[in-house]
Amino acid sequence: MIQSILSNLAIILVGHLLMNMLVNQKNRFSGKFFSLCVVLLFSTVIIILFYLPIEIDGYKFDLRLIPLIFLVIFRGWKTALATLAIVCIWRYSMGGVGTLPGILAGMVGPTLFVILLHSLKFKLDKLHEKIFLLTVCWFISDFPIVFIIPDGWEVFKGFFLIRYTSFLIVAFTYYSFIKAEHKKEYYKNELERMAWHDPLTNLLNRKKFIELLEAKTSVSGKNRYIAMIDIDHFKNINDTYGHIAGDDVLLQLSAIFKKQKGKNMIFARYGGEEFIVYLEAANLDESINTLEHLLQRVRSTPFEIDGKHELYLTLSIGLATLDKNASLKEVIYTADRLLYIAKEKGRDQLIS
Ligand code: GH3
Ligand code: MG
Ligand code: MG
Repeated sequence: MIQSILSNLAIILVGHLLMNMLVNQKNRFSGKFFSLCVVLLFSTVIIILFYLPIEIDGYKFDLRLIPLIFLVIFRGWKTALATLAIVCIWRYSMGGVGTLPGILAGMVGPTLFVILLHSLKFKLDKLHEKIFLLTVCWFISDFPIVFIIPDGWEVFKGFFLIRYTSFLIVAFTYYSFIKAEHKKEYYKNELERMAWHDPLTNLLNRKKFIELLEAKTSVSGKNRYIAMIDIDHFKNINDTYGHIAGDDVLLQLSAIFKKQKGKNMIFARYGGEEFIVYLEAANLDESINTLEHLLQRVRSTPFEIDGKHELYLTLSIGLATLDKNASLKEVIYTADRLLYIAKEKGRDQLIS
């Protein structure tokens, strides 16, 4: 018996390892293909469990329910229902003793219960909440035997302790592996975010911007441009209202930049109060138009300071064409020179 409990656990954990491999490759697939892979993986794990029954007093069980429960919790009800449909059809086609209870009480009932709890935003943060959820699922799955077979109550009394404890132990072991993986994933994402973004504005940093552009191929029919943007007289804001207010203005300006996202533009903070933009446009006039709109939007936006004062900003921009004849570094240098000319000519303007 212990052997078969351990073999159930082993299959569930192998499924978990494969799931991690899948998650690591996630950005190679489309969302739908990824979901399909998850459904197929979990269906396979559960179907293998059908063939590895745990025998107690002549009655056969397995831990098929555990992957289903965590599938609902960590991957959502749609993936869980698709998996449930596949494994129910498979179990039905296997036939034999206990087919219907195995499907309805052993899988459908508890899975629907978890979906219901999950849709009611039931949290699984605390230990007693996890125990409650697992206990109800186990109960829905095992208790019906009392009504189904003669002497059902005696049979239930005979196996419930070992069945319940093995269910909880395997479920918690699996859960702790999933949680550890999620923590790792979270820190990995955080690390990437911190390495690629500027901490104040959360725009891309200069390093990531350059890395992105070097990997980016040109879109057919579109020309590519680089613009350097600098806030006019920004030092005055720091000197008048303090650096924290200055930071706040940088944040509000970045929010305006982020709203331009859909327009084939990538913004990054170059350093200090300077930003760099990559644009794709049909021609120079179109790119000038886009940036003139941005200048106008910034001019007309009131920036809040401490919720008390409002001030207006202007920007200076240098715009250069990114073509095959020049390296990215050279184009950034040109845009920077043009920005300098915009400053010399009185600021609040674009020079291309
Ligand atoms: P110009 O129109 O010539 O660009 O004038 P400016 O005052 O904007 O330019 P200057 O280079 O003289 O000053 C830039 C200021 O930007 C100085 C620096 O303290 C400030 N600054 C740079 N980074 C930050 C930041 O992250 N937060 C705040 N609050 N200020 C910053
Ligand atoms: Mg400036
Ligand atoms: Mg500057």
